[in-house]
Amino acid sequence: MGNAFDVIIVGGGAAGIGAARRLASQGSSALLLAASSRLGGRAHTQDLGGYPLDLGCEWLHSGDRNTWVGIAEASGFPVDRGEPPWAKAHPGIAEDEEAQEAAQRAYGDWEERLRTVAAGSDRASDALEPSGPWNAYVRAIAGFMSGVAPEAISATDYLAYDDASTGRNWHLPLGYGTLVAASLPPSTTLRLATPAERIDLTADGVAVTTRAGAVRAGAAILTVSTAVLAGDAIRLPAGTEPWRDAAADLPLGRNEKIFLEIGRGAAFEPDTHAYGNLHDPRSAAYSIRPNGWPVIEAFLGGEGARILEKDGPAAGFDFVSAELVSLFGSAVASVIRPLAATSWSRMASIGGAYSCALPNKSKARARLARPFEDRLFFAGEATHPSDFTTAHGAHDSGRRAADEAMAALRHRQEEAA
Ligand SMILES: Cc1cc2nc3c(=O)[nH]c(=O)nc-3n(C[C@H](O)[C@H](O)[C@H](O)COP(=O)(O)OP(=O)(O)OC[C@H]3O[C@@H](n4cnc5c(N)ncnc54)[C@H](O)[C@@H]3O)c2cc1C
Repeated sequence: MGNAFDVIIVGGGAAGIGAARRLASQGSSALLLAASSRLGGRAHTQDLGGYPLDLGCEWLHSGDRNTWVGIAEASGFPVDRGEPPWAKAHPGIAEDEEAQEAAQRAYGDWEERLRTVAAGSDRASDALEPSGPWNAYVRAIAGFMSGVAPEAISATDYLAYDDASTGRNWHLPLGYGTLVAASLPPSTTLRLATPAERIDLTADGVAVTTRAGAVRAGAAILTVSTAVLAGDAIRLPAGTEPWRDAAADLPLGRNEKIFLEIGRGAAFEPDTHAYGNLHDPRSAAYSIRPNGWPVIEAFLGGEGARILEKDGPAAGFDFVSAELVSLFGSAVASVIRPLAATSWSRMASIGGAYSCALPNKSKARARLARPFEDRLFFAGEATHPSDFTTAHGAHDSGRRAADEAMAALRHRQEEAA
């Protein structure tokens, strides 16, 4: 029986779409299987209250070298290169500027100490100052970056991202999710709501089984999250245990967002930022009236995101409302109303926010990115050596896996000739 496609791509997020674009540009045929009924995965823009809000990725990190910028411009998507709102504090908050500066300095010092820790225990919590007065703040920021507590962060991994980042953060006013979902090439065959259930090697490639039957191709590119890969939703060929182990060494952290609508007449300064509580590791970062819209976006990481995961959206709304009241005064309670809350950790087809290497496991990214038997190729944000946790890292990993798959197919053809 012949192969129906050159390559089957499993997963329709930024990595799967990046792989599809590369294969299409080289004239290779591809089938993309997506578990969900929409494209984009952790890139998801939703119309909330009439505004295109990003539930997952939002910022074009390292914008000056981010592949999605070129894709956006080629497709006529506007790119906002202005300063992100976190560069501009909301005026008039009863905030102690000195304390704010001291907390930020403590975070910078912690990052510096990570370099020493990376050469030793590699456990990022070992870089915390014993009983340091700003440890709660450091924990909260580390939670935004990694979604986990410093005890579960590899210092080497944390620094690899930091060192590669250019610090430019650009924005897509129509939504990052909108761009990603619109970027699948028309020549890719797409099957939504068709999860891969098992993958077997065949004499001349792979067979991927879904509830609609088996499809054969020369190779498969697996782009699912590390939570999915380490779980048992997809049966993989014997011998792939080291890849599952690598995925388990790169668990997904917790990061969630809560959106609140601001009622008429409420005096919030547009495109500004506020931080909840310097002394609470669960605290959220608030984007206030992004793009001038009457919305507040609360970003929760690590311990803060756990509130939503454990206790549900109502508890999350209560938590951020209380923080906003303590920042802006009690009158605020009557002008904000819940719009939406994300639940990335509870979604079986994703299972969290983004990958973070456990202490001493930073090499797991390279282990996960290796091909298996020149038939099965691995992509996804977690496989990028430095731009992990991002949508551009995911895209570029898909492109890398597509190149590997095409080279393997060419090699096989040459051997058969
Ligand atoms: C709250 C939050 C904020 C973020 N902010 C940013 C940001 O500002 N900037 C940034 O660059 N990044 C950000 N990220 C990270 C970014 O969204 C991800 O790194 C990136 O989108 C991951 O893409 P991926 O293709 O690797 O994985 P995914 O997007 O997870 O794609 C994998 C796909 O595989 C599918 N799948 C699962 N199981 C199966 C199966 N059995 N068969 C077929 N398909 C399957 C899933 O449904 C999913 O669509 C954020 C993420 C979150 C959650």
